[in-house]
Amino acid sequence: MSDPRSRIPSIDALLSSPGAAAMMADAGREQVAKAFRTAVAEMRDAIAGDDESASGFVEDPTWYVRRAGAVLSAAVVPSLRRVINATGVVLHTNLGRAPLSDEALEAMRSTATYSNLEFDLAAGVRGSRYAHCVQLLRDLTGADDALVVNNAAGALVLSMSTVGMGQGVAVSRGELVEIGGGFRIPEVIERSGASLVEVGSTNRTRSGDYEAVVENGEATAILKVHRSNFRMTGFTEQASLADLVDIGSRHDVPVVHDLGSGLMIPADTLGLPEEPRATASIAAGADAVIVSGDKLMGGPQAGVIVGRAELIDRMRKNPLCRALRVDKVTLAGLEATLRLYLDPERVVSRIPTLRMLAMGEDALRAVAEEVAGMLEAGGVSCDVVSTRGAVGGGTYPGVELPSWAVELDGPKGAQALAGALRTGAPPVVGRIVEDRLRLDVRTLLPGEHEVVAARVVEVFSSSGPDIP
Ligand SMILES: *Cc1c(COP(=O)(O)O)cnc(C)c1O
Repeated sequence: MSDPRSRIPSIDALLSSPGAAAMMADAGREQVAKAFRTAVAEMRDAIAGDDESASGFVEDPTWYVRRAGAVLSAAVVPSLRRVINATGVVLHTNLGRAPLSDEALEAMRSTATYSNLEFDLAAGVRGSRYAHCVQLLRDLTGADDALVVNNAAGALVLSMSTVGMGQGVAVSRGELVEIGGGFRIPEVIERSGASLVEVGSTNRTRSGDYEAVVENGEATAILKVHRSNFRMTGFTEQASLADLVDIGSRHDVPVVHDLGSGLMIPADTLGLPEEPRATASIAAGADAVIVSGDKLMGGPQAGVIVGRAELIDRMRKNPLCRALRVDKVTLAGLEATLRLYLDPERVVSRIPTLRMLAMGEDALRAVAEEVAGMLEAGGVSCDVVSTRGAVGGGTYPGVELPSWAVELDGPKGAQALAGALRTGAPPVVGRIVEDRLRLDVRTLLPGEHEVVAARVVEVFSSSGPDIP
């Protein structure tokens, strides 16, 4: 018998077969030829491996067209794409932290072409990208001046480089934290060209500890880092920001407060425990305050520094500022986000992060029941369960958000169901709890509960004979 591989059609024959023309109109001849070569290689493997499900089609051009079509569509799925977050973790760092408001999205879309990023439209001359957002940040925090850079870690590097280059920065041993992703405060400070002057002990640091190193000239700046991602209890003590500001002003050394979390409204509006805010740090006299744009502020990834005009100006002129510079689309999204805070009565309903955090249990339960109803209508049985989510993004450690979820087993087990939901379109990410898949409704955006239900029903109905 002749080698079946000799019956595989040539690439030229496949390119002129019915169905190839439509693909070429879409993806171009070169990509289609490449996809056919992949299909041919798969056929050779199938023949070598005695895989009859494919090798039975060795001469059939429609098999190659179908395979090439699948290869081409897999290739156009973007690497970075929208995901539905059903984890119940609001600021999920792996899922891109804060989901943006409609206002931010619109501003980002409309400035993504040309914009007046560095152009003064009234005067017709060059402007500064650092002028945007400044007035809003002044109004919202009470600071004299503001600077926006790429992210809060960058803001920290820039601040330390500006106040401590070649000099010492005093930091409490209780605040030498890892801010996430393996980045630690001591290393960030060292890399910014400043040297770390550790004061106090892990659990207790008094203002006198700072004063000693400032007085003897070891430290020429003070950094206070908010313990945003861990809690310390028991025999503890820390110097207040007001104490540090007092030391700073008596010895003429700047005090930088790294807050990280970026909460802009009173925490009780969200039903959350008190969390320090930039407004309070500015009022207490901090020279510079650092917050993140995509944590509790609910905006795009950005590092916001507010503070004393002279210090902010030095940061703006620091060459590192150029390396950390913020993108136009980010600035537009941040400005639109900040503008929403001017209306405190509506800000919670407009910024998705805040709206999700503020959602009450009754409303969450109603959404979970609606999803369950849609699943049952699609023939999928599930339970509505109470669950616990988190704020996430390294904020509010130890605080659990009581929430509601639908919980179910898949036709081939919860892990397989979770996998199918993650790899479909759009991907849905839930959590496995005790061998069942839990889909927390708190983190769903408007309309997404219907998409989630449809995806689950689709997974169940496409798994054929395995359905119990
Ligand atoms: C999160 C955090 C940072 C880093 O913020 P990014 O915007 O993620 O770079 C820095 N400092 C503190 C205290 C934080 O909580």
